[in-house]
Amino acid sequence: MLKLKSVDVLVIGGGGGGYPGAFRLSKAGYSVLMADPKGVLGGNCLYSGCVPSKTVREMCQLAARARKFLKVEPSRSFFTEVQKHKDQVQEIRFEQHREEIKENGAEYVKGEIEVKGPREYLLKTEEGQQEVTARYTIVATGTEVERPPIPGAELAITSDDVFSYHPALTELPDEMAIVGGGYIAFEVASMLNALGTKVHVLVRSDRALREVDKRLVDMFLSSLDKDIDVKFNAPTLAIERRGNRTAAIYSSEGQKREIVADHVLVATGRKPVTPKGLEKLMQLNRGYVPTDDGMGTPVPGVFATGDVTGKTTYFHAAVRESLVAAHNIMAGGTRTDYMDVRDVPVAIFTFPPIAYVGITPEMASKIGMKLLEVSYPLKRDVMAQVYDEREGEVRIFVERETMRVVGGWALGEDAPEVINEIGVAAQSGLNLRALAEYAGQHPVPFEDVSYAARAAL
Ligand code: ADP
Repeated sequence: MLKLKSVDVLVIGGGGGGYPGAFRLSKAGYSVLMADPKGVLGGNCLYSGCVPSKTVREMCQLAARARKFLKVEPSRSFFTEVQKHKDQVQEIRFEQHREEIKENGAEYVKGEIEVKGPREYLLKTEEGQQEVTARYTIVATGTEVERPPIPGAELAITSDDVFSYHPALTELPDEMAIVGGGYIAFEVASMLNALGTKVHVLVRSDRALREVDKRLVDMFLSSLDKDIDVKFNAPTLAIERRGNRTAAIYSSEGQKREIVADHVLVATGRKPVTPKGLEKLMQLNRGYVPTDDGMGTPVPGVFATGDVTGKTTYFHAAVRESLVAAHNIMAGGTRTDYMDVRDVPVAIFTFPPIAYVGITPEMASKIGMKLLEVSYPLKRDVMAQVYDEREGEVRIFVERETMRVVGGWALGEDAPEVINEIGVAAQSGLNLRALAEYAGQHPVPFEDVSYAARAAL
C-alpha cells in the first residue's frame, strides 16, 4: 500500500533553483518536501559544475603563478592532488548544506519525483514509493550534459568526468582535444593548458562564445595563451578509438583531418531534465518548462526555476528565481515578485576570465539604445602589475540619454568579482556619477571601475 503524504509545497530538485525557496517557505511556516536523487543539496553546480570547476581553476592558477614567479613546474601528481582537494571542498559544502537543512526545517528526501497529475506526485526512493499531494510545486530539475549527434560521441569524456564528485579523470592528460566553442570548452582548455597539457579546441563555426559580445570575445581570444590550439570552422565529424588514445576527426578547409589525444572531451551543450510525467500538466518548450517573470508556469500552483526554464544557466540566477517563486507562493500564487534576468552577471573562468552584465554594445544596437562607453585598461591596474597579468580592461556602458549605468564587461583576473559592482549599479539604475564618486578600495584588482567612471565626469 502506498502511503499518502500531503504537503504545502513540493520542491523537485535540490539545486540552486530548489533549496533557497524551500528554506524560505519552510521558515515562513509552510510544510515543504524537497526531493533529489543525489541525496545531497547543491544540484549540479556543486556536484559537477561551478564549485568543482572553480576549485580546479584556482589550483591551476596557483600552478601558473608558481611556474612564472618561483620557476617551479607543477609535478605530474599535482592534478591528482587537485582532484582530491576538489572532492574535499565538495564534501565540506555537502555537510554545510546538511546543517542548513536542519536549521531551516524543510524535509529533504533522497529520491526522484514523478508527476502523476495536477498536484499529485510519486516519490520514488530506495526504500519504496510514496504518493505525495502538494498545493504548490517548484520544478527545479536543471539540465544535464548533452553529447553531440556524431558517430563515436560515447567514446568522448565530458565535463562531468573532469569535475564530478569522485571524477573519472584523476590523471593529467598529456594531450586533449576539446569539441565545442562555448564556455565549458574554453574553461577546461585554460585549466589543463595551465598545468601543461597540450590542448586543441575544435570550434564548429567561426565564432566562439556565441552568447558573449563579439568585441569582448575577440579581446579574450587575443589574450588567450598561444599554446592553446584553437581551430575555427572545424566541425567534428566523428570520434574514434586509436589503441588507448582517442581521435577527433574534423573537417577544415575542405579536408578531413584528425587529432589523436589521450582524451577527446565534448562540450557542446546541455539539455533540460524534467520530472517524468510533467508533460501531462503542460506543454514544454523544446524540453524546457515555460515560465513568466514571476517564475509561474501555465499551470496554477506550479512554478519552475533555474536551468530547466531555459532562461539562464547560472546558479546565482537560479537562487534568485527560487526566492521569487517562494515569494509568489507566499502571496497565494499572485505574482508579487519578479525575476530580472537582464542584470544577472555572467562569468567565464578562463585565463584570463571574462565577465559581463546587463546591456553590452551588440544588445544595445539591437534594441536601439545609444551607449556611452567608459573604460580603463588593465595594464594600468596595480594588481595586474603585481601578478603580471596585464591584458584586459573594465568597460562600463551608460545609456546616453539618462547617464544610467546599463551594463559592463571586464576581462582579466578577478573580472568575475568586479562585474558585481557594475551589476548592482545597472540593476539599481545608478547614474555613472555614483560610480565616479565612490571612493573604491585600493589596491585591489580592478579598482578601475571608479577610474573608468571618472574618465567621463
Ligand atoms: P538548478 O541550479 O537550475 O536548480 P541543477 O542542475 O543544479 O539546477 O539542480 C537540479 C537538481 O534536480 C539535480 O540535483 C538533479 O539531481 C535534481 N533532479 C532532476 N530530476 C529530478 C526528479 N525527477 N526528482 C527530483 N530531483 C530531480
